[in-house]
Amino acid sequence: MDNPSKSLISLAAALQQIDQAIIALPGEEIVPVSEARGRVNAQTLTARQDSPPYTNAAMDGYALRAVDIAPRGATRLRCVGQALAGHAYPHPLKAGECVRIMTGAGLPQGADTVVMQEVVTRHDDQVSIPAPPRPGEHVRRQGEEFQATDPVCMPGRCLNSADLGLLASQGITEVLVRRKVRVALFSSGDELAQAGTARTQAQIYDSNRPLLQAALETLPVVLVEMGTLPDAPAALRERLQHASTQADVIITTGGVSVGEADRMPEVLAELGTLHLWRLALKPGKPLAFGQIQHAWFFGLPGNPVSALLTFMLCVRPALLKLAGQGYQHLPRFPAQLTHAWHKKSGREEYPRGVYSRSEAGHLCVRLLNDQDSYRLTSLTQANCLVAVAAATQQLSAQSWVDIILLDHCFCL
Ligand code: AMP
Ligand code: MG
Repeated sequence: MDNPSKSLISLAAALQQIDQAIIALPGEEIVPVSEARGRVNAQTLTARQDSPPYTNAAMDGYALRAVDIAPRGATRLRCVGQALAGHAYPHPLKAGECVRIMTGAGLPQGADTVVMQEVVTRHDDQVSIPAPPRPGEHVRRQGEEFQATDPVCMPGRCLNSADLGLLASQGITEVLVRRKVRVALFSSGDELAQAGTARTQAQIYDSNRPLLQAALETLPVVLVEMGTLPDAPAALRERLQHASTQADVIITTGGVSVGEADRMPEVLAELGTLHLWRLALKPGKPLAFGQIQHAWFFGLPGNPVSALLTFMLCVRPALLKLAGQGYQHLPRFPAQLTHAWHKKSGREEYPRGVYSRSEAGHLCVRLLNDQDSYRLTSLTQANCLVAVAAATQQLSAQSWVDIILLDHCFCL
């Protein structure tokens, strides 16, 4: 089958087209906060109470009234009791009094300053503070972080462990989140055998499905259907048609190139719409994006490195947008190449590299020697991708490039 537009599409144009085509999926559900990590918040959450909820000590020491501080020299006070976290001192502080207080304990009524225990000398109930403390010091005032009804978590935010801690600190036990994106994940190719089964001489073990399944598990996604597809068009039609009734997104690997057995694009064009096919990208040229009924379709290349790369660059942002998080690309950081690199293709390239900190203190990156996209070791030995523009031919040593940290993409 011919490429609908003949020429290769730039990655930027493809990403824009995907972004324009898809919108966030409708649907929400309530989940316990304890199960909400990685889910996308669906509504503006407002504080139920001030933070801190009551004025308390930021240090272990003595709580006192600023009006009792001697303007010069030592301040002498009488210690009349103690306040521990969870156990308040029950009486208002009177003139000349102080209370032994521990971090997190509520300040007694009338107290407004805490002096660190390290600067105090004490004999029985007599406390002496050698120099005047700053009025109000070492106190966390009620509502100083935020106040009841202030927004504390916005819709579209992927909830992380800190968010869950914040919600729990507000006494919140349940949260309304966007529903997960239903994904059908298939590998394809007559040569594939599954790990754990016997392999014939003409077969290879399927690495793409476990690889992408693990990458998908880092996203707000639920896998609804999986399997290995043969290269036969009739079977492809039947399985993809069925998957389109079960999933929001169908992801396949293999069969999207221009070989004799690469039947995915023609089957997709028959069943639905092929929106774009073949990018000016290396690795990842054969990527296909389309639609079967209401399901979005991403046909990724069969070589494992190409499959993961196109997943990271093209599928991940689309899944995040469908999940309600917005169309987000992976962050890029400047790094200096340690060695010159010659680029052969006229395509945008993402060779694998190893970044480290240079002696000067910035990031530097060394490209791995073997960049063949069948070599999974080029990914296992790498910790970043290097972004090289299509027009670039020669990169000299010390030139600056953008890198994508693999541990930042949550895929690896
Ligand atoms: P294709 O895109 O189907 O032409 O496949 C390109 C290359 O990737 C071929 O060498 C395939 O054998 C290989 N390949 C395809 N699918 C997988 C898979 N699931 N795991 C490992 N290699 C694969
Ligand atoms: Mg194949």
